[in-house]
This record gives sequence, structure tokens and C-alpha cells, in this order.
Amino acid sequence: MNRPSVCAVVCAAGRGSRAGFEKNKLLVPFGGSTALEMSVSAFDFPAIDEILVAVSEEDEGEVKALCARFPKAKTVIGGDTRSRSVYNALLQTSCDVVLIHDGARPFVSRSVVEGCIESVRKYRSGVCALPSVDTVALTDGGYIRSVPARTRVYSLQTPQGFFAADLRAAYEKAFAAGGSYTDDSSVYAEFISPPRLCAGSRENKKLTFAEDFPPAVPAPSPARAGIGVDTHAFGKPQDYILLAGVKIPSDSGLVAHSDGDVLAHAVMDALLSAAGLKDIGHYFPDTDEKWAGADSMEMLAQVRRLIAERGFAPLSLSVAVQAQKPRLSGYIDAVSQALAAALGIPKDAVGVSAGTNEGLGDIGEGKGICVRAVALLRSLR
Ligand code: MG
Repeated sequence: MNRPSVCAVVCAAGRGSRAGFEKNKLLVPFGGSTALEMSVSAFDFPAIDEILVAVSEEDEGEVKALCARFPKAKTVIGGDTRSRSVYNALLQTSCDVVLIHDGARPFVSRSVVEGCIESVRKYRSGVCALPSVDTVALTDGGYIRSVPARTRVYSLQTPQGFFAADLRAAYEKAFAAGGSYTDDSSVYAEFISPPRLCAGSRENKKLTFAEDFPPAVPAPSPARAGIGVDTHAFGKPQDYILLAGVKIPSDSGLVAHSDGDVLAHAVMDALLSAAGLKDIGHYFPDTDEKWAGADSMEMLAQVRRLIAERGFAPLSLSVAVQAQKPRLSGYIDAVSQALAAALGIPKDAVGVSAGTNEGLGDIGEGKGICVRAVALLRSLR
């Protein structure tokens, strides 16, 4: 047959809870990269036509940003189980051959991947495996029941390659039968035929526990700074103002198309500016009725998604508020807390100061409030 088209499916929808990180272990930086990027990169060569990365909804934005530099890569929302994630990906590809790979095996080599494709061409399947160096035992209730001859025991790795139509059919039968499976070879073995082994490698190990991750190497510093300034005038008949969504009593509200959260607006502009994006007027135009009375903290959440798509995440924030009135000192802590939560950074990475303008100018005369913000972003790439 002509060269079959090949899709690599990188499974990254799990939490990796055994590693004990606060986030998906595949997205934890190490060695100036992440396990996910290294796994995707292993399939980014001409023999592979498409790379589907199965991710959770929660991680999709970050994964998209990390994968933006791989033109063949796309995300697919995974399912509750590894099996469902693989099946969702199988429904999204029209390639002849699929190579299913654990995102947690970032060290897979080109030759292992090529050997897997070759095995599928010759034998309709290829499961990367290594002869076991340990003697293994089948146990029951704490007792060894049998010890298979070590020469017959292999540790299965990924990629595992199959014709997409075969694996799709196998999963449909598996779901109908209601079994649970930890890899693709077991589904294929049960419902199609015995899968063929092909060469894995020692280096192709799975990162499972925190100690499997090589010690962090400081990445080259890709931090980016941005500044944002916003001013709003008093004059809205309202007995409070909002700063970072915190309600502060005031004899007048701030005039605005949105909810008038002058502080949130300055922070949004600082973030957008640091990421090299346009200002908030571009994304939330005040000519658009959609933003009339809009919740600025919701807009801030959208800005965070925009900068994530550009490959950045907040690192720290510094905010200076100039207001002759109302008195803000009792609210600074709540404002800092709200900003830290909205940006997903520790509270000690947020600084908020407030001052008057010593009676000088419009701000000093209490006509309005001015906020300046400086945001620092780190690169996710
Ligand atoms: Mg504004």
C-alpha cells in the first residue's frame, strides 16, 4: 500500500496525581520545557501527519499555548478514563494509522516511533516493549500464585500503533462489554487479535512520581513586563465603587460603560500589554452593548485566557491607586486577595498601594480615581 497516513495521539488528560504536583505533571516545567512539549515534539517529524493531544477542559488553554509551535498538533477534549480519551481522539482523526502515546513518556526516540510505524505496516500493530529485567509474579491475597518464565515477560511502553479502524472497533466492543483497560494493547488483544511487539527502549521511561522528574534547570528568563493605566470620574448615582470586584462604600460611583472597576481595567491593560496584545478597548469595546454594566472581574478572567493563548501566565502584579476619596486602607488586603485569585498567583506576588494626590489636580480634587498597574508575565513555552 501507499504510505499510510499516521496520527499520533498523545494522552495528557490525566491529573498524574501520583506525582503529587499541584497541577497536571505534564505541564510542570523542567529542563526549560515540559514533559508534554517533549512528548509532542517526539512526533513532530515528516512521517507523522497529525498529532492529537487529549487534554482535560481545565488544561486545554495552557496545552494549546504550549503546542502552538507545533503546526501539526491539535487538542482533543479527553474523557473520564484513558480509554475514553483515546476513543475521543480516534473519532477526530481520519488517518489510517494511530500511534497512542503516554504524554508522560517524553524521552521516546525517533527510532522507537519509526519502528512502531513499521510494525503496523507489516503486522497491523506494534506495541513498544522491553524484556523484563525483573522476575515478575502473579499474586493473589499476598501470595505468589505463579511465576512466568522471565524470557516471556515484557514491560509494555508506548507508542502502541494500530490501524485506526481496528482500534476504534476494539474500543466500541470494549465499551459494550464494560471492561476497564490501562492501555490500548489489552483492548486490541481482547477484541481484535494478539498485538505484535516492537522495540521499546530503556530511555523511554514513564514519569510517574515526582522523583522521576529531572531536577529543574533554570529556564532562560522569558519574563515580560507590561504597564496599564486607567482613570474614571465620579458621578454615577451609586453608594459604592468596585476595585478588583471589592465593594467599597463611596458617596458616588464611577462613571463607565462597564461596572467602572478602574483597578481591574488597569490590570487588564498591563497584562495585555505585557503579552504584546492590543488594549482592553479592542477586546471589550465600549460601543458594544454586550459590555454594558459588564463584570470587570469576568473580563479579567477572559484576559487571562487571552494571554494564556499567547503563551504567557501571570507571575506578579504591582498596583498603585490614586484616590483622594473614599478611604481605601481597610480594603487593600481584600483587593490583593481578589487579584491573586483572579490571576492564579500567590498573594505575596501582588502589591497594592493607595495614596491621595495631596489635593493637587483633578484626582486631588476628588473628581475621579486613577490606577497604574505593572504586570510581570512568564512564558509558558
Ligand atoms: Mg476603564
